[in-house]
Amino acid sequence: MRADSIRYDFASDNTAAICPEAWAALEEANTKYAPAYGEDEWTAEVCRRIRKLFEVDCDVYFVFTGTAANALGLAQLCQPFHGVICHERAHIQTDEGGAAEFYTRGARLFLTNTSDGKIDRSQAEKLIAQQVELHGHMMRVISIAQATELGTVYTPDEVAEIGGFVRARQMLLHIDGARFANAVASLGCAPKTITWKAGVDILSFGGTKNGVAAGELVIFFDKRSSRDFQYRVKQAGHLGSKMRFLAAPWLGLLDGDVWLRNARHANRAARQLAQRLRGEVGIDPLFPVESNAVFVRMDDELVRGLEALGWRFYKFIEPDVYRLMCSWATNEEEISSFIADVLTTK
Ligand SMILES: *Cc1c(COP(=O)(O)O)cnc(C)c1O
Repeated sequence: MRADSIRYDFASDNTAAICPEAWAALEEANTKYAPAYGEDEWTAEVCRRIRKLFEVDCDVYFVFTGTAANALGLAQLCQPFHGVICHERAHIQTDEGGAAEFYTRGARLFLTNTSDGKIDRSQAEKLIAQQVELHGHMMRVISIAQATELGTVYTPDEVAEIGGFVRARQMLLHIDGARFANAVASLGCAPKTITWKAGVDILSFGGTKNGVAAGELVIFFDKRSSRDFQYRVKQAGHLGSKMRFLAAPWLGLLDGDVWLRNARHANRAARQLAQRLRGEVGIDPLFPVESNAVFVRMDDELVRGLEALGWRFYKFIEPDVYRLMCSWATNEEEISSFIADVLTTK
C-alpha cells in the first residue's frame, strides 16, 4: 500500500484541510507588524463578531485546542471538590487524557449512559442524590456536547430543560461545542436559542473541525464567571503570542457565515453518505444522522477489505461500530468512491 493511496476522507472531520476562506484570511493577516498576545485588531474583531452572532455581551477567549477549551473552562467553574456530570461517551471523559480532572485539580466526572449520547436528567438526578452531603462531591456542572459524540443534536427545548434543571440546583451548564456549528446548522436556529437563552453558562466553540487550522473559543455568557480567566489561559500555555493568526482565520469563518455553510455542507454530506449506505449497500446508520457523523456496524471482513483498499476510519464502540465523519471538504466523488469500495468488498 503506497502512502498516497491511504484515504482519511471519513476518518474524522479534523483530517480535512484548512478551508479556503480561513486560509485567505490568514494570508491577509500575514503582512505588517501587529501587537502580540491578543491585543491585535483581528482578535478584537472576532470578539465583537461573536457578541453580535450570539446577540449578547459575552466574554470570548482563544485557546489552541478543544481539550484546552473544555478543561480550562471547566476549571474556571469548578473547585477541586466539585462534580461534573457528563455522558459516558463525552470527549472530556474518553478523549482528553484526564485534562478536566487535571486542570480542576481534582473535580470528578460522573457519567450517565444513554444510547443517543445525550444527558438523561433522571440519571443526573440519581447521581446528585447519591452524593451524601459533605461526604460526597458537591455537584457543580452538567457538561453536554452539542452536537454529541454520537452525532445527535439536542433540540432547543432539550437544552432549555437541562438549563432549568441545573438552575434549580444552583449548578452550571457547560457545552462542548467542538461541533457547535453542525448543531446550529442542523437546527436552523439562532445561536442564542441553544446557549444563553437556554441557560448555558459557558461554551467551547470549535473552529478546527469547521475549517481553521487551530483555535477554539471559550465563551462565557455570564461575565462574572470569567474573572481572571486570562491568567488561567496563560498559565496553561494557551495564550498565543501571535494571536492574530488564530483570530484571522476565524474572521474567514465568520465573514458571510462561512462557518454555517461549512457545517451545512458537512451535515448534508453525512446524510448523503448514510442514505447511500442504506439504499445501495443495505447498511443502516445506528443513530439518527443529525450532524456530520454516520455510525455503522461493519463486520471484520468488510473492515479489513476497506483497509486493504486504503480507507482509514475509527472503531467507536466495541465490537463492531465504526464512525464515518464528513467535513466541509467532503465531496460526492469521495462518497461515491467509498460506496463503490464497500460494494466490491462486501
Ligand atoms: C474534536 C473534539 C474536541 C476537541 O478535541 P481537540 O483534539 O483537543 O481539539 C472536543 N470535543 C469533541 C466532542 C470533539 O469531537
